[in-house]
Amino acid sequence: MSYTFAQKILMKKANLNDVKVNQIVIVKPDNLLTHDNTSAIIGKIEEDLKKYGLVSEKMPIIAIDHTVPAVDEKTATGHKKIREFVKTYGIKNFYDVGVGVCHQLVVENGFAKPGKLILGSDSHTCMYGALNCFSTGIDRTEAACLLLTGETWLKVPSTIKIILKNKLPEYTTGKDLVLKIIGDIGADGANYKAVEYDGDVKNVSIDDRFTICNMGIEMGAKIAVFPFDDVTRDYFKKINVSGDFEPVWSDTDADYEKVLTYDLTQIEPMVAKPHTVDNTAKVKEVEGKEINQALLGTCTNGRLVDFHLALKILKGKKIAKNVRLLLLPASKKVLEDGLKDGTFEKLIESGGTLLPPGCGPCLGAHQGLLAEGEVCISSSNRNFKGRMGNKNAEVFLASPLTVAASSLKGVITDPREVM
Ligand code: SF4
Repeated sequence: MSYTFAQKILMKKANLNDVKVNQIVIVKPDNLLTHDNTSAIIGKIEEDLKKYGLVSEKMPIIAIDHTVPAVDEKTATGHKKIREFVKTYGIKNFYDVGVGVCHQLVVENGFAKPGKLILGSDSHTCMYGALNCFSTGIDRTEAACLLLTGETWLKVPSTIKIILKNKLPEYTTGKDLVLKIIGDIGADGANYKAVEYDGDVKNVSIDDRFTICNMGIEMGAKIAVFPFDDVTRDYFKKINVSGDFEPVWSDTDADYEKVLTYDLTQIEPMVAKPHTVDNTAKVKEVEGKEINQALLGTCTNGRLVDFHLALKILKGKKIAKNVRLLLLPASKKVLEDGLKDGTFEKLIESGGTLLPPGCGPCLGAHQGLLAEGEVCISSSNRNFKGRMGNKNAEVFLASPLTVAASSLKGVITDPREVM
């Protein structure tokens, strides 16, 4: 029999000799990720926790990242409840305010390894597919049950294979590629399917892979995944994670629902226009649209490489007078590295405002919400109505290069125009 990546991992984790697409399997994930929503999750099982205890103090990974530092009494109380839970049950993997966005912490700290199964009560958990993991979002009730039992069910997804050919042109990034793919497939085109990237993946950097897999859910995918290769191996070396990896990949004659091919040389800078991620266009088609705010960061594009890209455009220059440029590093490590090499100093000189590592404006929690009628260009992953705090504001999604170029000009700008 031949199997896809998803089938192989789920077969292994369910301890079965064979699985078919759409089969329900019971699995024990390696880790469960939760964030600020941990307080709501444990609120569902308070009595059961007292009675039965936590299934494992090593399985949960908890990060307080969404509304940090606390913005009001309600969030402060929620954060306090999480800290008490962590202390009471001796949870090993806890990241308090200021350490970073949960997804970045999972990949930075070596939790996501090839062949692992990681579930998270956040839809962008699919990001770790970049490291050859089966990782996906689940809802809060499922997460609560997992804390008690350590197991849950998953349906074996069918798979779409996306073959990448050649190399992205200069000033075009993984964000542009994934926006192009989401525009083609549609916001629900990959609903509950696995998306496998294959082909010339050696030409796709690990940071681009993070961005591409992070946005898998924006086409409805259950997982988005890359094979394990030298690019992955180099990443683990960089973060000092060694050991016996157990990479998994599809058999060459595995059964795919669909196979799509993208010639990377044809990809151009892209945006997602308000108010859906699949409402995509080439940057050229929306050039000149006035902006009020530019958000650079988040779990999608808030790594050091993203700020370096922005600096290529902004170094020694000032952003437009009508624009607020927010710099939102994905983690404290990104912040520290960017402070050490002078990246943030230079971006602040250009007019940027540095925010603490976390989610803040990405989900409209605080620190950079939009006013009525305002327009933001953002390197984040969602642009739904009200996503950044105001349902009568507009959010355009783009690469860090396009965000930086637009902040420089005060209007949406193709980065190739200013390089
Ligand atoms: Fe979600 Fe945005 Fe936070 Fe990422 S940065 S986890 S997309 S709120």
